[in-house]
Amino acid sequence: MNKMRAKKYAGRTLSVSALAALLILSGCGGSGKAATESQDGKVTLNFLTQSSPLAPADPNDKLINKRLEEKTGIHINWKNYTSDVFAEKRNLAVASGDLPDAIFDAGYGDYDLLKLAKDGVIIPLDDLIEQHMPNLKKVLEQAPEYKKMITAPDGHIYSFPWIEELGSGKERIQSVDDLPWINVEWLKKLGLEMPKTTEELKKVLIAFKTQDPNGNGKADEIPLSFVNKPGGEDLAFLFASFGLGENWDHTVVTNDGKVVFTASEDGYKEAVKFVHELYQEGLIDIESFQQDWNTYLAKGKDNRYGLYFTWDKANITGNNDTYDLMPPLAGPSGEVNVTRTNGIGLDRGRMVVTSSNKHLDETAKWVDQLYDPLQSVQDNWGTYGDDKQQNIFELDEAKGMLKHLPLEGTAPVELRQKTSIAGPLAILNGYYGKYTTMPDDAAWRLKLLKDVMVPHMKAENTYPNVFFSIDELDRLSTIQTDMFAYLERKRTEWYQNGKVDQEWDAYLKELNRLGLQDWLSIKQAGYDRNTK
Ligand code: CA
Repeated sequence: MNKMRAKKYAGRTLSVSALAALLILSGCGGSGKAATESQDGKVTLNFLTQSSPLAPADPNDKLINKRLEEKTGIHINWKNYTSDVFAEKRNLAVASGDLPDAIFDAGYGDYDLLKLAKDGVIIPLDDLIEQHMPNLKKVLEQAPEYKKMITAPDGHIYSFPWIEELGSGKERIQSVDDLPWINVEWLKKLGLEMPKTTEELKKVLIAFKTQDPNGNGKADEIPLSFVNKPGGEDLAFLFASFGLGENWDHTVVTNDGKVVFTASEDGYKEAVKFVHELYQEGLIDIESFQQDWNTYLAKGKDNRYGLYFTWDKANITGNNDTYDLMPPLAGPSGEVNVTRTNGIGLDRGRMVVTSSNKHLDETAKWVDQLYDPLQSVQDNWGTYGDDKQQNIFELDEAKGMLKHLPLEGTAPVELRQKTSIAGPLAILNGYYGKYTTMPDDAAWRLKLLKDVMVPHMKAENTYPNVFFSIDELDRLSTIQTDMFAYLERKRTEWYQNGKVDQEWDAYLKELNRLGLQDWLSIKQAGYDRNTK
């Protein structure tokens, strides 16, 4: 249930089902067998990987990979699956024991990594990094916090990470995922100000519902819509007006370093009551409780929302001036707060090397190229100088710097998926202006966060990306499965029936029965280890 938060910055994301519609099963090349050496002495490595259905079925058709082969003299024989079936195919390959040399863009979580290491399927990489990977070593020297974060509790590194920095601290791009977008054309039409308090928001939403701001004579406006599950389309943003607030993993940290479960706080209860008031007034889109992305998108494209939530409005209502970011609202106490989303641009399990690999030095040499700064930028976003298709970049050879080209109407995520290779890489904040320009969509969002949200973030700490032990992960997962499902069910009931006050004490008791205190102590121990 913990969504992968270390997402590649994709801005205008394609929906999962749009991708599924384009599904092409692409099991090209490769037998999954171990490496071979060809007659000309060029080493061939067998890698298992995944890519978007928009990308070439054979990753060697990507210009980046062609250049890597020229540069390293190493040929990669890819077995490539589209992302929707990859996890299943990967698990089958590992279970069969017919291991590739490495799994690239592996999609492994912490539990997988620790289990595979324990079973001897993947190998520790510490010595390879030390002896054969100067580029990765340099990254870990420049940003030593990542070395700690990719090191397993047993002291070994079992995977090559993906690192993407876009801003830091409160100003990082992940700082708030579920941004609120309000219809400013409707505000203007009705002569209303941008709301500054939760009560003003309620009045604005009532006006949207009753005063026909789209002027078609019908009450077809949807004052407020969201997707009622943790993530970027949830309305959790509104909870911060009532206290510590809420985020997708229900975890915040006080300024004294105490880990807090959001959903047992009094402020949380008050926020739930406020949402119930909106529900009672008929301001909430009834489809919020079961809609999928496509339904949410369809109504958004028709500009039917007064207020809705997502990472970037361009994904839902387009890159235009109809909607604007709604600043955080003062709650009943007059306090304004913005709850920070936990998460940074780090995916630990981006690539693993298997115990079948007989060419470890060559593998390390090839992977290390991916951590060269100019190369990392291309791995992540796409390349330059491709005469067969649109380029993401042009290369300024004099400066040794990649510059983003105008997209000319192309969706950035589509172009990135066709031409980038993902996989292990590192882009540090210091690279912008030195090795690359920042993507326009990311720069735009960073500025909005900085101007509108950051000044109101009261929390100095977020919950870090802790590498828990296998026992801790087992226990956390067992607790969360029931506890998170329970809290989401109760919250939805309370939005609709308003009985949160009557049921609150019983709810707290049930949370404790489901393991809340254990959960807190494991999370606190992880936090303390990580921050000392
Ligand atoms: Ca209307």
